[in-house]
Amino acid sequence: MSSRCAACKNQTRKCSSDCIFFPYFPANDPQRFACVHRIYGGSNVGKMLQQIPPYLREQAANTLYFEAQRRIQDPVYGCTGIISKLYEQINNTEIALAHIQTQIACLKLQVPQEKAESNFNVLRAQSSGTTEFQWQSQVCWFN
Ligand SMILES: [Zn+2]
Repeated sequence: MSSRCAACKNQTRKCSSDCIFFPYFPANDPQRFACVHRIYGGSNVGKMLQQIPPYLREQAANTLYFEAQRRIQDPVYGCTGIISKLYEQINNTEIALAHIQTQIACLKLQVPQEKAESNFNVLRAQSSGTTEFQWQSQVCWFN
């Protein structure tokens, strides 16, 4: 295992025992530091980590890495691109759910048969003498 973290290796400096980067940017994953360095600047990442309580630093480092990766992949929207897509999926799913709930409500009016018969309005055809069944108050619109 390297005695220097990825940040100190990148900056070609000695890695001290209290290096803020060491636990979160290991030397065996140089890409991790390269991403955050490219987006935020290495010293800014160090300052951000120092402002955070130690027990939250790993999570913060992971988040900075994720956000930096997304910003590199999508320079315009970054993480917001993912959030927008997820909102769109939620919206589409809610619309689909509303359609299905409407279909269920319509089907419940048809079944069970005994209950449904009370909703029937039996109309006798005047001219042919045949019987037509018509729903009394069921109109379902599906887009
Ligand atoms: Zn270091």
